[in-house]
Amino acid sequence: MSEEPVLVIAIDGPAASGKSTVAIMLARRLGLALVDSGSMYRAATLLAVERGVQLDDEASLADIARELRESFELELPPDSPVRVSVHGRDISSAIRSPEIGEAVSPVSAVRGVREEMVELQRSLVRKPGAVVEGRDIGTTVFPEAPLKVYLEALQSERARRRYVELTEKGLATTESSVGQEIAMRDEIDSSRESSPLAAARDALRIDTTELTIEDVVKEITSELERRGLRSDV
Ligand code: C5P
Repeated sequence: MSEEPVLVIAIDGPAASGKSTVAIMLARRLGLALVDSGSMYRAATLLAVERGVQLDDEASLADIARELRESFELELPPDSPVRVSVHGRDISSAIRSPEIGEAVSPVSAVRGVREEMVELQRSLVRKPGAVVEGRDIGTTVFPEAPLKVYLEALQSERARRRYVELTEKGLATTESSVGQEIAMRDEIDSSRESSPLAAARDALRIDTTELTIEDVVKEITSELERRGLRSDV
């Protein structure tokens, strides 16, 4: 009997393009693990900020990233939100603060940090597979993934979505400051030297500006069926 290969679905795209919501829904529907790589970079940034590590201290940042390989956990319970923890401490809300949003891209640009994070991401994929989302998943972390998706949307729509999300959580902000934060992160993420934000050449590109989350999930599951990767969705 031939063994079922591990299924990796790579989802990349700029900030607030819908990756996280789509990845969570797909992982739940397909019974796959969720690997949200952005939450790992955010966790490293949170620890750095809390410990007073300078954002240009590359050696200390890489040490923190290495520490996460043993202490980072992400759980996707069936009926409650994703829970992210470090050393058992729930950091799900703390990593989403505007302060961490502003500091995360410089931390993520550090090569030593990325090397550790890529190892962590790869180590979390087991049978039957995982939905892995981020910026460099299809290009660097899992270049052999059988399905790579690149989500994009107009910047104004991405700012609007993130603004709604933050205000629903009770975080005070304005749409224009959210727009600026997103634009700044996209600029740093796509121009850095080490595995920048980019679509893999063979990625399925989906513009989500006018689509609902359900539309996007349907498009991806139809593609899985077309490629014979899953027939039960
Ligand atoms: O996905 P999310 O917006 O939470 O990611 C936060 C930040 O983490 C990104 O702006 C980027 O700087 C970094 N990141 C990255 N590579 C990934 C995922 C996230 O550099 N694969």
